[in-house]
Amino acid sequence: MRLATRVQTIGASPTLAMNARAKEMKQQGIDVVSFTVGEPDFNTPEHIAAAGIEAIREGFTRYTPAAGIPELKEAICLKLKRDNGLQYDPADVVVSNGAKHSIYNVLQALIDEGDEVIVPAPYWVSYTEMVKLNGGSPVIVSTKAGDDFKLRPEQLKAHINDRTKAIFINSPNNPTGAVYSQTELEDLAEILVPRGIVIISDEVYEKLLYDGAKFTSVAALGPEVKEHTVTINGVSKTYAMTGWRIGYAAAPRALAKAMANIQSHATSNPNAIAQKAAVVALTGDQTPVKKMLAEFTRRREQMIAEINAIPGLSCRKPEGAFYIFAHVASFFGKTICGRKINGSVDLAEVLLTEGHVALVPGAAFGDDNYVRFSYATSLDAIEKGMARVKDVLAQA
Ligand code: GLU
Repeated sequence: MRLATRVQTIGASPTLAMNARAKEMKQQGIDVVSFTVGEPDFNTPEHIAAAGIEAIREGFTRYTPAAGIPELKEAICLKLKRDNGLQYDPADVVVSNGAKHSIYNVLQALIDEGDEVIVPAPYWVSYTEMVKLNGGSPVIVSTKAGDDFKLRPEQLKAHINDRTKAIFINSPNNPTGAVYSQTELEDLAEILVPRGIVIISDEVYEKLLYDGAKFTSVAALGPEVKEHTVTINGVSKTYAMTGWRIGYAAAPRALAKAMANIQSHATSNPNAIAQKAAVVALTGDQTPVKKMLAEFTRRREQMIAEINAIPGLSCRKPEGAFYIFAHVASFFGKTICGRKINGSVDLAEVLLTEGHVALVPGAAFGDDNYVRFSYATSLDAIEKGMARVKDVLAQA
């Protein structure tokens, strides 16, 4: 069987693949500490889960409108107004099977063969692959640690041409945790908007902020910016609802309509029960969000301290999300447990096989000098896992 050309250049998602490998090893009885996937280890808050159970009991188990139930679209509009100062109409909102699916729909609706999409690196692993799957070319622009991994306006200008169709802005960023200030976003929007470039603003980590960092939603910069922006968000990270698969996009009306049409053919509605739960997540008691953030804050402190105490490892303090992007290039060229370390993939491999610690190599995020640790896991796991990392790296 000859597969389509479009799948020749992509593999499985490295975040999910590493997570699956760690789980497989656990199933074999190996005591693996996993810092791989960005998935809160908390259970979905009780009142949200109860809404899902209630939906099943009520028989809310049939098809819904393909782009989501009106009640959830209203709740999303309310959330966007309450939290982000954004005025959207339910007709501008499309609910999908996770924010990942929302992004895929955006690209399906926007990209023609040969269009370019700017992806500032380090980037979340699926942006580039989704652009390719939709016939576009990702234009990777590397940011610098010295710029806190944020795209500079002059870098952006240098990569725009007639084929530039869109750009990804992901603040707080996965994997670096960088958070763009309002001024920094304004400086980028000033370049993008007059050129008609669509801003795909992935805001899934907006509630995970530390040290007083402030979140700005790109579309809130002004009406003209909003006309060029698609706001992407979801309930997975904020409400510990990764398995429920509810994400959404709020977009200029014509784009929202196109996305809804695509979805109506590709998947139909997102899960009916999960939609009911998402309404309660967005409109109900927000106390669990604060509690989870307090816990993430403790874990972040712990992990930063542990990383910076290991000779050869270093990291900056991420302002958002729940990842630490640690610099590991000082190990390149060395040999650990008989394995020559030529890059982040080798380092991740040796940590997994020798230390039973799973993490994601930086190469997957477009910067081979780093590895990503997720601290969406318990303090005990952090302590145990980091002690193992220290032991393995001490053998370099
Ligand atoms: N976004 C999360 C991560 O980066 C979840 C896994 C994925 O879809 O990539 O770990």
